Amino acid sequence: MLEGAKQHSGIAQYLQPHILLAGGLQAIDGLLPGFHQELVRRGGVEVDMLKDVRMFTLGAPLAHGESSIKVVLASRHVYQSTIQDEVLSRKAPWLDARDSTRVTGLTWSDDKSCVTGVKLGNGEELPADLVIVAAGRTPRLPQWLKAAGYEEPPVCKVDPHAAYTATFCRCENGPQGWKSCSTFDRTGGLHGAHMVPIEQNLYQVNAFGSHDTVPPADKEGFMAFLRELPDQEIYEAMLKAELVTPLKKYSVAPAFRRHWNKIPMPKGVVAIGDQVQGVNPIFGQGIAAAAQSVVTLNESFSEAVAYAGDNQDARRAALHGLGPAFHKRLLEVLELPWLSSTAEDRKHPSTKMEGEVSAPPGWLNAYMDAVTEACQHDTKANEVLLGLFHLLRPPTHFFHPRLLAGVAQHSLRKASRSPSALRSSGRTAGRTSARATPALSAKGLSLVRF
Ligand SMILES: Cc1cc2nc3c(=O)[nH]c(=O)nc-3n(C[C@H](O)[C@H](O)[C@H](O)COP(=O)(O)OP(=O)(O)OC[C@H]3O[C@@H](n4cnc5c(N)ncnc54)[C@H](O)[C@@H]3O)c2cc1C
Repeated sequence: MLEGAKQHSGIAQYLQPHILLAGGLQAIDGLLPGFHQELVRRGGVEVDMLKDVRMFTLGAPLAHGESSIKVVLASRHVYQSTIQDEVLSRKAPWLDARDSTRVTGLTWSDDKSCVTGVKLGNGEELPADLVIVAAGRTPRLPQWLKAAGYEEPPVCKVDPHAAYTATFCRCENGPQGWKSCSTFDRTGGLHGAHMVPIEQNLYQVNAFGSHDTVPPADKEGFMAFLRELPDQEIYEAMLKAELVTPLKKYSVAPAFRRHWNKIPMPKGVVAIGDQVQGVNPIFGQGIAAAAQSVVTLNESFSEAVAYAGDNQDARRAALHGLGPAFHKRLLEVLELPWLSSTAEDRKHPSTKMEGEVSAPPGWLNAYMDAVTEACQHDTKANEVLLGLFHLLRPPTHFFHPRLLAGVAQHSLRKASRSPSALRSSGRTAGRTSARATPALSAKGLSLVRF
């Protein structure tokens, strides 16, 4: 895995731990049937997110049990090479894949109203009815549009000064009784750690921080950081681990969103993936959001072509005009990852924000804390919540009856344990979770993160 991974130079985060959320796995499996099984065949680890993963947040683990939320955990290299191999193995007659080839710019119609193709580094020009720019975080399409006299799209940014320190390691049995563990602590800015199994019996471990909490990259400091977290599972597993790669620090760029729908776009070009939006990677949403965007593009494409019928000119015109409707549809796909990953960061006073950042209503944080606490006791509610964070459900499901019922039950349970209720029943307060009460009272209102 590590040898193969060295071959990719175009993606800075290629050797960083990645997980592919269930919504992304489902999207890619729909586009490339058999992808899930192929990941497993290449050594990916199948995991039930509720049964096999310990998720510790707001002072206690979330409830566990059998669920429908399945993922396959693997390195970024395995995810990416499997997608590439699956695409190429289909040998579509229309597919012409060029490796190690740089696109240096766009080609244009004489009046610059329409993109007609791309220019390659070797001087060659490739004509196209629709150019899809999926060039990652570097703002290639904004630069190319600017060079042609177009406006750049407005960008909004949220910067919690997030930092990662990560390693791949070997660890005989991993965390005790769990396939994978994640711990979140919000004291002084969101921080925590993930320990996730991947192929070849390896684990990817990353500690993450924000603002003034930066996970150290020396072994002693890294272990001290893990020991200070409110859950000890990862620390204890790491005491028995052998590091396979050195601990490496990574400063995470701010979350950003480019509003492609707010500028007049030329015909014949669309942006996708990190050309549109990049969020804080600790929530593992980037690939899943990009995969769901591809599903949306596929739908827009099929509808446009079907509407145009068999006439080639009508089809070309439909593809040229795809951009505005597609970018508008994309907003719906990208809203959940954007809101759920930026809400926590926005609350910290030293988070830097730029541009128009849409604000969730103030009461939402209190509601989400109540939901999280309910999910520490209620497996069914937790399945709904995890379904949201795995991009399997629409944002409206934050108010799913199961979550509302869980919150109501939990409030009743809490009220019956309150000092006044216990006094009136003649009992004294017992602790259900050693850390739940202090964590909740100290941190007040927060949106759950994992
Ligand atoms: C530290 C870190 C950790 C992350 N962890 C996760 C995670 O756990 N789960 C998750 O889902 N996401 C994670 N992400 C986000 C994820 O990596 C991205 O969202 C995802 O890779 C975006 O895919 P993309 O195709 O848009 O861009 P990329 O994956 O960056 O791919 C862009 C491609 O375009 C090529 N390219 C660029 N310019 C040109 C050009 N001019 N000509 C030709 N080719 C070009 C590049 O070489 C590259 O191959 C993480 C990100 C970071 C920074």
